[in-house]
Amino acid sequence: MNSTFEKETQVVILTGAGISAESGIRTFRASDGLWEDHRIEDVATPMAWERDPELVWGFYQGRRRQLLDVVPNPAHDALVELERFLGDGLLLVTQNVDDLHSRSGSQNLIHMHGELRKLRCEECGEILVAMDDVHLEDKYVDCSKCGVERMRPHIVWFHEMPLKMREIEMAVADCDVFIAIGTSGHVYPAAGFLGLAQACGAHCIGINLDPPQNVDLFDEFHQGKAGELLPDLVNSWVGSE
Ligand code: NAD
Ligand code: ZN
Repeated sequence: MNSTFEKETQVVILTGAGISAESGIRTFRASDGLWEDHRIEDVATPMAWERDPELVWGFYQGRRRQLLDVVPNPAHDALVELERFLGDGLLLVTQNVDDLHSRSGSQNLIHMHGELRKLRCEECGEILVAMDDVHLEDKYVDCSKCGVERMRPHIVWFHEMPLKMREIEMAVADCDVFIAIGTSGHVYPAAGFLGLAQACGAHCIGINLDPPQNVDLFDEFHQGKAGELLPDLVNSWVGSE
C-alpha cells in the first residue's frame, strides 16, 4: 500500500501522552513510571481513592487546572485536517485525559481513559462538566443531582475497564490503516490494538519520539516529535503535496 489515503479509507488513530508533550503536559513512562512526580499506585487506582482521597483529589485538581494553561499543538491540529478529508472514516481514540483533541476540533473522538474536564458521582452516576472556578478549588465537589459528597474524577484508573472497548475493537478490526502516535505500548488494553489491527490486515503506522515497546509490529515507523512530523505526514496522506 502506498501512503496516500482515499476518501473511503477507514482509519483508526490511537494517541497517547506523547502527542500532548509539545503542549507542555508531561508524559507518564518517560519519567521512570512517575506521573507528575507521583507513583501511579498512589494517585491513579480505585484503592488510592479509597485510602487517601485527599491526595488523589489534589493530584487531579492540579491536572485539571493545568488544562487552563495549555493549548493544542500542530500534531492535534494535523489530525483535524485529516478528519476534514476522511470524515466519518476516521475514528480517533485517545488514551489522554486532557481535552486538547476536542479543543483542536476533532469530532469523531473517544476518550477511552476518561476526561479531566468531568467529574462523576459514584452514587447516582451523574457526569458533570466541571471546569468553572468553583469546581477547580481544593475542596471536593458534591453531586448536585443526588447530594452525595465528593464526586470522583471521571478517569479510568488502573484496574478499571476502559470506556467503549467494544466499539473501539470493532473499528480497529475493520480499519484499513491503523496509526499509533505518542504512546509507549506499555499500557494495556490500548497497547493490544496494534496487534489486533495487524492481525486483521490493516497497514500499521507508528509515530513516536522513541521506538515503543511493540515497534516491530508496525509496517511503517516514523521516529521524532509528533508536532514536527504529523503536519507533513498528513499532507502526504491526503495528497495535497
Ligand atoms: P506514555 O507516557 O507511557 O508514553 C508516551 C510516549 O510518547 C513515549 O513512548 C515517548 O517516547 C513518546 N513521546 C514523548 N514526547 C513525544 C513527542 N513530542 N512526539 C511523539 N512522541 C512523544 O503514554 P501512554 O502510552 O499514553 O500511557 C500513559 C497513560 O497515562 C495513559 O493511559 C494516559 O491516560 C495517562 N496520561 C495522560 C496524559 C494526558 O492526558 N496528556 C499525560 C500523562 C499520562
Ligand atoms: Zn449523585
